[in-house]
Amino acid sequence: MSTYDFDLFTIGAGSGGVAASRRAAAYGARVAICESTRVGGTCVLRGCVPKKLLWYASHFHQELEDAAGYGWSTGKATLDWGKLNDAKNAELDRLNGIYLGMLDRAGVTLHTGRGRIVDAHTVEVAGKQYTTERILVATGGWPHVPKDIPGAELGITSNEALDLATLPKRIAIVGGGYIAVEFAGIFAGAGVEVTMLVRGYGVLRHFDVDVGSALTEELKGHGIAIKTHTRIEAIENNDGALRVRCNGDIDHDVDTVMWATGRWPNTRNIGLEDVGVAQDDHGAISVDEWSRTNIESVYAIGDCTTRAQLTPVAIADGRALVQTLYNNNPTKIDHQGIATAVFSQPPVGTVGLTESEARATIKGHVDVYRTDFRPMKHVLPGRSERVLMKLIVERETDLVVGAHMVGGDAPEIIQGIAIAMKAGATKKQFDATVGIHPTSAEEFTTMFEPLDD
Ligand code: NDP
Repeated sequence: MSTYDFDLFTIGAGSGGVAASRRAAAYGARVAICESTRVGGTCVLRGCVPKKLLWYASHFHQELEDAAGYGWSTGKATLDWGKLNDAKNAELDRLNGIYLGMLDRAGVTLHTGRGRIVDAHTVEVAGKQYTTERILVATGGWPHVPKDIPGAELGITSNEALDLATLPKRIAIVGGGYIAVEFAGIFAGAGVEVTMLVRGYGVLRHFDVDVGSALTEELKGHGIAIKTHTRIEAIENNDGALRVRCNGDIDHDVDTVMWATGRWPNTRNIGLEDVGVAQDDHGAISVDEWSRTNIESVYAIGDCTTRAQLTPVAIADGRALVQTLYNNNPTKIDHQGIATAVFSQPPVGTVGLTESEARATIKGHVDVYRTDFRPMKHVLPGRSERVLMKLIVERETDLVVGAHMVGGDAPEIIQGIAIAMKAGATKKQFDATVGIHPTSAEEFTTMFEPLDD
């Protein structure tokens, strides 16, 4: 019998920490978890879930407009933001209750308070110390705000943007990544005048170049202004509004500024330095393929590590770790080819290599297949929104190494393609698959001609 209070002490009750703790308890481990706020973490409380609810909500105006093209008379539709907020918050309360119930039923001891590692086998929460054989750090991430810009504190982040009591008339969103384009769509859909301030040449810079260009056109089509090569020099109060001063002496007057400039690991002041856990410059915990840190009894999963900041990655790594430690089943996750989606309007789905990554990493020839078209649904309403699809193929092996889509249902469609790619699907197998007609997805089976080199 172990002399420690617990076998596993998890710091952080987000998706990854809860999944790992529950499974470990199910395998008979004595598990404790601590959380400084509400159980649920970024995904449930400040990210994926509330964001997607607002995304659904902000899309209805387009559906209602399009309905006229199909003969419906819908009258003037208005959005009651307060009512939407209440409904969203009620859902978050429900999910929080489910998470609490799951931990309770699994027999995991919940401590409320910020956890701090005292030594390699001790965690302190709310002034009490608990000994444990192993520590799992699952503290997630937090929006990063550039501190060196005067007036930066006048801006909000996605945390506050998800919980605004009233909508601003005009918003400037700084950044061009996942969160920036997702919130640009949400606010524009809700009737807010949106300006995106992007320091690089465009949005989704780390995605396939055609994805970024196609989405840029669609965002503009939704009335979103995109200012590229723009650096923020200061934010000033201007008679109750905000003035964003940018390079080139250009000012933008708005009511709200939102920073969407990345999320950094939530790893400060939790004792990692005291026990010598290795981290990168942003504080991300270095882990090996087994989620082990350089300290034998300390493990880490999720957004607080150097891995992709995606909920399913945190959950998968947490469950794999527990298989290894408590079910005598050494398991590690293959982090290659993880599909991801951006809930912009229209959304993006992507898996595998971008065209430029493929050209840089594959020694032989790379074939690129691309199509773009106006989906049938948009024809009667006269909507100009298009769909982009792209497949990247290694010619020598015929393996599909990348698939990208911008357009309605892209996340749903790319999930299926990701499974095919995980199974090692070749381009010939894509071509031999009979499509489902009439759908957009069927175009992934009919891209027969590669682009000219
Ligand atoms: P991203 O890394 O996706 O994008 C950050 C953006 O901010 C980039 O455009 C970046 O520019 C820009 N930027 C960074 N620092 C500055 C600065 N100092 N001044 C101006 N611009 C700056 O981060 P997000 O915050 O959008 O999201 C964080 C992570 O959360 C994502 O990477 C993703 O892993 C996860 N996420 C996933 C979602 C999903 O699965 N649907 C949804 C939301 C978040 P540059 O390109 O030049 O570096």
